[in-house]
Amino acid sequence: MFQLNDEQLQIQAMARRFAEKEVAPYVDEWEDSAYLPREVFKKMAELGFTGMYCSEEYGGLNLDRVSAVLIAEEFGRVQRALGFIFIHNLVLELINDFGTQEQREYWLPLLANGDMLAAFGLTEPGAGSDAANIRTRAVKDGNRYILNGQKCFITNADVADVLSIAAKTDPGAGARGVSIFIVPKGTPGLSVPKVEKTMGVRSTHICEIVLEDCAVPAAQLLGGVENKGFPMLMKGLEGGRLTNGSLAVGVAQGAFEIARDYAKQRNAFGNPIANLQAIQFMLADMATEIEAARWLVRYAAWRKDQGLRAGMYASMGKRYGADMAMKVTTDAVQVLGGYGYIQDYKVERMMRDAKMTQIVEGTSQIQRTIIAREILKD
Ligand SMILES: Cc1cc2nc3c(=O)[nH]c(=O)nc-3n(C[C@H](O)[C@H](O)[C@H](O)COP(=O)(O)OP(=O)(O)OC[C@H]3O[C@@H](n4cnc5c(N)ncnc54)[C@H](O)[C@@H]3O)c2cc1C
Repeated sequence: MFQLNDEQLQIQAMARRFAEKEVAPYVDEWEDSAYLPREVFKKMAELGFTGMYCSEEYGGLNLDRVSAVLIAEEFGRVQRALGFIFIHNLVLELINDFGTQEQREYWLPLLANGDMLAAFGLTEPGAGSDAANIRTRAVKDGNRYILNGQKCFITNADVADVLSIAAKTDPGAGARGVSIFIVPKGTPGLSVPKVEKTMGVRSTHICEIVLEDCAVPAAQLLGGVENKGFPMLMKGLEGGRLTNGSLAVGVAQGAFEIARDYAKQRNAFGNPIANLQAIQFMLADMATEIEAARWLVRYAAWRKDQGLRAGMYASMGKRYGADMAMKVTTDAVQVLGGYGYIQDYKVERMMRDAKMTQIVEGTSQIQRTIIAREILKD
């Protein structure tokens, strides 16, 4: 476990090369203009990163989770917004694991080859953590469903080619009344009226979605089964927590490296600030916390690869990684002093991006409730 195999090391190196060559030089420009060029997605597709969790038969990599978290860390280290690719892969995974044969044959090659970008529509204005309480309604009408409702905070909904939309097919049944629909862009009744202005990850778009008498063919009900969507979502989100935890490790690692290098060359009172014990201790704690989170996340991913129970460990990694990234990036700003507060030095962006990791795909509080449930059960 504590040694990555050759394939994993190759994937890690490939992700680092991609992030450093194709992304790092442009991050400031893309974040300032709140725009991530579609070519980035296309280049990810060339490396196979658009088809992580489906088989080669459909154009995918059939990647193990340890490799996925290695990619996430490399992406987070350079630009947290690249994490959109794991949302795309979450939708791909849902279709791969739960789709009908027809759905798999049609959608997976389009997603895996990067011909289509996917978005994941679960959260609503009245239901985020309490996801079983969504209000979007899907009513069967012959061989189609009519969807009505509203979603919020949906990453890249405005630029996605296809969305997974969670809706209630049995509104009285709570989590047992949720179904998932595959809804392509341009479906009449589907609109994206608003792109939010956000604290961080500005080059991916966080959007509102409105569904107004949106007719979706019954063939696009995921798996062809009503009311089974909630466990599907929870399984998908378990993988999402692994990569989110690792994206957080990457953000912290990126900020740490900048702080460490700065401390060695910044002089105060005639010496580099790296000679001050106060700075040394801050850097030592940052390095330690990053390493602890890194291996917790990798352990959770390894458990999932082994078919062992991984849910609680994924939550631990996500919770610890996210809270650690918030602390480490805040300390990185502190190490840089006034320069840390200036955009050119990058750590302030990383601090803003770290905040996101404490909220998405289950807040740090929700991760604690999952962990507590597991450790307290008889
Ligand atoms: C940048 C960004 C991108 C996102 N992308 C997507 C996306 O692509 N698709 C999607 O569907 N959603 C997306 N989301 C939504 C995200 O998953 C939700 O914001 C998150 O799950 C929290 O839900 P909420 O915002 O409704 O907060 P709430 O659920 O209202 O929570 C508010 C506060 O109450 C706390 N809280 C709530 N319930 C409990 C509890 N039982 N115990 C303890 N504390 C509790 C929370 O921890 C939080 O501090 C995105 C959000 C952001 C910020």
